[in-house]
Amino acid sequence: TTIGASNQAVAKAVAEQAARFTHTCFMVAPYENYIELAEKLAAITPGNFEKRAVFFNSGAEAVENAIKVARIATGRQAVVAFDHAYHGRTNLTMGLTAKAAPYKRGFGPLAPEIYRMPMSYPYREENPNISGKEAAERAILAMEKQIGGDQIAAIIIEPIQGEGGFIVPATGFLPRIAEWAKENGIVFVADEVQAGFARSGAWFASDIEGIEPDIITLAKGIAGGMPLSGIIGRAELLDSVHGGGLGGTYGGNPVAVAAALESIKFMEEQDLAGRAREIEEKFFTRFGALQKDIKELGDIRGRGGMVAMEFVKAGGKEPDAELTKAIAAECLAQGVLILTCGTYGNVVRLLPPLVIGDELLEDAFNVLEDAIRKAVA
Ligand SMILES: *Cc1c(COP(=O)(O)O)cnc(C)c1O
Repeated sequence: TTIGASNQAVAKAVAEQAARFTHTCFMVAPYENYIELAEKLAAITPGNFEKRAVFFNSGAEAVENAIKVARIATGRQAVVAFDHAYHGRTNLTMGLTAKAAPYKRGFGPLAPEIYRMPMSYPYREENPNISGKEAAERAILAMEKQIGGDQIAAIIIEPIQGEGGFIVPATGFLPRIAEWAKENGIVFVADEVQAGFARSGAWFASDIEGIEPDIITLAKGIAGGMPLSGIIGRAELLDSVHGGGLGGTYGGNPVAVAAALESIKFMEEQDLAGRAREIEEKFFTRFGALQKDIKELGDIRGRGGMVAMEFVKAGGKEPDAELTKAIAAECLAQGVLILTCGTYGNVVRLLPPLVIGDELLEDAFNVLEDAIRKAVA
């Protein structure tokens, strides 16, 4: 809820659009606000090139469609995803997702032609001095050996991983992967479903290192909680799809689109990317200090209003999921909702609404700090 629950500007836009019409199916009878949203996204997403957008209902559906576009545009089949990745729960997207339980176990068969590559995960690198570029070369070598650059339709990556543990790859990793994709005619897909829309302190997490994805997937923060997702990417890629190849009954529903237009306006007017950077600073100041005290607080990381703490057994890096669970439970008991995440279940992540005031944020930080102290005691 980037712009807060029941944001009043969005609620009003939703009511107005609902009173006009709730549905036509864009493929049958197009409407203006869909076009307006496509144009707005073309202006604010990275990449100064001709773009096309198409809208769907969920993040997973956006990911599915990004892969469809990449495959038809390249005539290739292989898709590369990374360790710790999360891309959704539909058949193709659970295959792209790294973690077996709870996402994949028992739900097979999974989609073929998915290859998993090593991620840049600074805290857990065997060689703590490995650079982002070196971590990228490690993945590139594996792609060359295991698949071949000319066989790969798409490389999909979250610029900051979400469910996998709020992993921020080392600087230089994303640009090198994107560059290699370009050299090999591979569609570089940034899954910004979680990190997008001001969450990372930039409009899109891809902006932080100046990468220009060929396709970006969007959802979560896009429409103030209304079900909407989309992909936006290079015109020549999306134009390579035949008529009727992409779409769906409700995709880009006019009420959800009205909510998106209002949400984006609100984020711009309130400079929520700037607010996310303030939250980031407060978080690192507060929990950076705490880290000196708490041996179990192995890593603090993240960007903007997407920040996290990784908990380990004191004296090493062995993940401590039990401790993490205890911290989350204590926070809940004190009225603060936090989520855990990470491949090892040992990460506490914070995704506050970016409209949160300082007082409420401090209050939540106090509860969280007390919960951590209590859990390690
Ligand atoms: C949540 C998420 C998805 C899936 O979105 P849904 O709307 O839940 O289908 C895909 N990718 C990322 C990075 C996500 O965080």
